[in-house]
Amino acid sequence: MPAAGAMLDPAGDGCPLCRAGPEPVLWQDARCRVVLAGDVDYPGFCRVIWQAHVREMTDLDPADRSHLLAVVLAVEAALRELLAPLKVNLASLGNQVPHLHWHVIPRFADDAHFPDAVWAPRRRPGIPHRMDAAALQARLLALLGAGA
Ligand SMILES: [Zn+2]
Repeated sequence: MPAAGAMLDPAGDGCPLCRAGPEPVLWQDARCRVVLAGDVDYPGFCRVIWQAHVREMTDLDPADRSHLLAVVLAVEAALRELLAPLKVNLASLGNQVPHLHWHVIPRFADDAHFPDAVWAPRRRPGIPHRMDAAALQARLLALLGAGA
């Protein structure tokens, strides 16, 4: 959990998303990176993180907005191909860490929180639907190219 002051941190000093964390990077270019969230309940849970410390989608110029959304949708497409989830949740919150990022979460009727959001109280033990990270990485490379 970031310090409360992170909410008032326009420069990104102390922001955990401004630097690469321990999560595996599946794809990246100069503008954004796709990482595995490392959630034990949701092995396919990915985050798409804008590299620069930007707060809102509307702080990006139109070309950058389109690029970020294209990457988010490529992750959704790859997860659908590999896992055939019942639903894909796309979420951009950033209330705790105001650094632009999207959550891309494959959902299943037997997961721990369905049909609630993954941040809601758990409803059942849940089945973690396994995913081949190397296959996801290869699919993103095919969809997005090698990046810059
Ligand atoms: Zn940041």
